[in-house]
Amino acid sequence: MSTSDWALAFSGDRLLLMSGAEEIRVPTRGEMMNLLGEPGWGEADSGTSIPPAEGRPCHALELTDDFEAPEGYELVGLRASHALIPLSLFRAAGTARQRVEWLRTHRFCARCGTALERHDEHQAMSCGECGQLHFPRLSPAVIVLVQRGREILLGRSPHFSPGVYSTLAGFVEPGESLEECVHREIEEEVGVTVSNLHYFGSQPHPFPHSLMVGFVADWADGEIRIDPSEIEDARWFTADRLPDLPHSMSIASALIADFVKRDAGS
Ligand SMILES: [Zn+2]
Repeated sequence: MSTSDWALAFSGDRLLLMSGAEEIRVPTRGEMMNLLGEPGWGEADSGTSIPPAEGRPCHALELTDDFEAPEGYELVGLRASHALIPLSLFRAAGTARQRVEWLRTHRFCARCGTALERHDEHQAMSCGECGQLHFPRLSPAVIVLVQRGREILLGRSPHFSPGVYSTLAGFVEPGESLEECVHREIEEEVGVTVSNLHYFGSQPHPFPHSLMVGFVADWADGEIRIDPSEIEDARWFTADRLPDLPHSMSIASALIADFVKRDAGS
């Protein structure tokens, strides 16, 4: 461990960054040690579980929920940090965020209530009383670009920024395959059926502990009939008349960009 390692410290979902007159960046472990003092250091230290970024090891740290950034520092939402720090550090910060969230929500055994301890070998918390191991939680979700000829189906949820539409998404339920989830979610949310599913790619989604699995599907049947408890609007869009889109870092953005590229070539 070196003082020049990166320190990815979170208060809730906000990442602590150093903000100087000229730059904003992730602090080093040495800088965080000066800030916090040695005793509190390493509470949520990640050890080897976080890949290095920008050529240096990374460490995850949990700050209190009411932590106030001192002068020269600021707390920035994880999404917003994407525009401020290198991509490799943003990815590491996402991993750190999931790690910290897991540790802070797995202090006691869900089976018997005993305080948990870090497991020596696995990335797990273990219960000294009943032996139960508790692994990091990961909630897979599908995200789907539905295509009908030269149109794509995008929807908006009430918590999106005004005017933004995105590809449809939903969490996988126990006992369900990814493909079954795609069919169920699309039918539930917008009332249409799809066919010809193709895997597109996946993306860790640390808000707070998801994995987005992207698909492209063809519209098969049905007219749009939204489920207002999930989304507030859904429409067909052509590549030359797209609405405001989600953040460029998102897999939704990559799905739509892929469609635009294919459409231009057709
Ligand atoms: Zn237990």
